[in-house]
Amino acid sequence: TSVKLVKLVSSGAPTLANFKVESIGVPSKASLQSDQILVRTLYLSADPYMRGRLSGSQDSYVDSFVAGKPIIGLGVGVIEASTSSEFKEGDVVTGDQFLWEAKFVSGVRGFIKIPASGIAPANYLGVLGMPSFTAYVGVVTLAQAKAGETILISAASGAVGQVAVQLAKARGLRVVGAAGSDDKVAFVKSLGADAAFNYKTCGDLNAAIRAVAPDGVDVYFDNVGGEFLDAALLNMNAFGRIAECGMISQYNATADTAYHIQNLIRIIPKRISIHGFIVSDYYAKPDYANFIAEVSAMLKEGKITYKLDEVVGLENAPQGLLDLFEGKNFGKRVIKVTDA
Ligand code: NDP
Repeated sequence: TSVKLVKLVSSGAPTLANFKVESIGVPSKASLQSDQILVRTLYLSADPYMRGRLSGSQDSYVDSFVAGKPIIGLGVGVIEASTSSEFKEGDVVTGDQFLWEAKFVSGVRGFIKIPASGIAPANYLGVLGMPSFTAYVGVVTLAQAKAGETILISAASGAVGQVAVQLAKARGLRVVGAAGSDDKVAFVKSLGADAAFNYKTCGDLNAAIRAVAPDGVDVYFDNVGGEFLDAALLNMNAFGRIAECGMISQYNATADTAYHIQNLIRIIPKRISIHGFIVSDYYAKPDYANFIAEVSAMLKEGKITYKLDEVVGLENAPQGLLDLFEGKNFGKRVIKVTDA
C-alpha cells in the first residue's frame, strides 16, 4: 500500500480527497542498486508541520509534497535488505525520509540506526524523537526557563506539550497548561502541571489564563497561535519570553478566517521576546546530546511519562494526519503500519 498526494491545498482544510491510498507491488531485494536499503515500515509519524508541505508553498523550511508522489515523513522501520555498508538486515532505523508505504527502497540519506536498548521503536517518534526535542529546545535552550518562574503551555497534552510540561516541572517551574478536552486537562495535571484548563469551555481566555497564573506568565510555550497567543500576551510578565513553536490554529486558515493578533504592542512595555524556532536547526548543536542524555535518564528512572496515540493501518494514515487539526489525537499521533 502507498499513500500518495492527489492535490496540494494552498489554504483551508485538507480533506481525505487530497490523498489516495493505492495498492502497489512489493519491492524485491533483487531490485536494490548500490548504497540502497529496503525498509519495512513499523510506524509513521503524523505531524502538524506536514500541513505546510501540503500547501505547495516555496518559502517553507521543508520541501513541499508532490502531487502523484507518496507522502514522506518521519518513521521507524526495519531494514530487510541493504547494499550499503552503513546498514544490515535486521537493523531498526529511524529518519525523516520514510515513504508512506509498508515497504520501500531508498538511499541511506536521512536514516539512522536505533541502538538496541529495549525501548519500543515508536518512542523514537515521540519521547526520544523530534517532538520531544522540540519541547527541550523551547523550554531549555530558548526560554531558559528557571526555577520559580511560571510557564504557560498550550496544546499541553500533545506530542510536544506533554514533554514541555515535564521538562519545565523537572526544572522547578510553576507549570500551567491548556488543552481541548477535560480528559486532556486531567492528563496534563497527572504529568505534574500545577494547574490546567479546557480552553474550549473556559469562556474568556484572558481571564482563564489569569486564573491559573495570577502572578503572570514568565514563559509562554506557544503551540497554537491565534486567539490563545493574543490572550497570553496580555498575561506576560516583564522580560517574559515566548518560545514560538507552532500556530496550529492558523494552519488551515484562509484570508477570511485568519486570526489577527491585537495585543502585539504589549511586547514593548513588557520587554517580551518572541523566539520563533525550527527544531531541525538544533540537531547539530550540543543541545541534542544534552536532550538525549537528560530524557534517556528520565526514561530509565521512570521520571517521564509519554502518551502515544496509535492509529492502526496505513490506509488510515490520511485521517490520522487530518485529526491533528481538529484535536482528535490524544498524545503523540503515530500510524502503526506493520508488526515488529
Ligand atoms: P499535538 O500532538 O499537540 O497535536 C495537535 C494539537 O493541537 C491537537 O491535538 C489540538 O489539541 C491542538 N489544536 C488543533 N487545532 C487547534 C486549534 N484550532 N486551536 C487550538 N489548538 C488546536 O501536535 P504536536 O505536539 O506535534 O505539535 C504542537 C505544535 O508544535 C504544532 O503547532 C506544531 O506545528 C509545532 N511544532 C513545531 C516544531 C518546530 O520545530 N517549531 C516541531 C514540532 C512541532 P487540543 O485538543 O488541546 O486543542
